[in-house]
Amino acid sequence: MSNRTFTMIKPDAFANGHSGAIIDRIIKAGFKIVALKLTSLSAEKAGEFYAVHKQRPFYGELVEFMSSGPIIAAILEKNNAVEDFRKLIGATDPAKADEGTIRRVFAENLGRNAIHGSDSDDNAAIEGNFFFSGLERI
Ligand code: UDP
Ligand code: MG
Repeated sequence: MSNRTFTMIKPDAFANGHSGAIIDRIIKAGFKIVALKLTSLSAEKAGEFYAVHKQRPFYGELVEFMSSGPIIAAILEKNNAVEDFRKLIGATDPAKADEGTIRRVFAENLGRNAIHGSDSDDNAAIEGNFFFSGLERI
């Protein structure tokens, strides 16, 4: 069990003006921000980030969506961070996500689902390193 996870507020939630409300929920759930940036992904970088899904039918659409506008990337700290954050954001498909979860409240649909959360401690470290240098985190 590690105490860090990685998240992105995706282009749909950013464009819909939900970034502040989402960050507020994350902090109120007990996560501490240890790195944060507003940025955007080129199609190449989005493809690299989601390379594990390259063979899936939704990969092209996912890359196009994730490179369509600004995102907010962050590293978060809390005990049991990866698992607790996945609970806070809810299921991939917002229609199936529990009441009150970030995806249930803010996501548009299965593809445009508002927020990313790492699925393991190893991926949390890899994804955090994808966006942040040592100087950009506390
Ligand atoms: N996705 C999609 N269609 C699907 C499954 C996933 O468009 O059938 C998108 C969605 O944005 C999701 C991302 O691809 O968040 C990565 O999929 P994954 O299965 O890793 O879901 P997550 O870990 O984000 O819940
Ligand atoms: Mg995933």
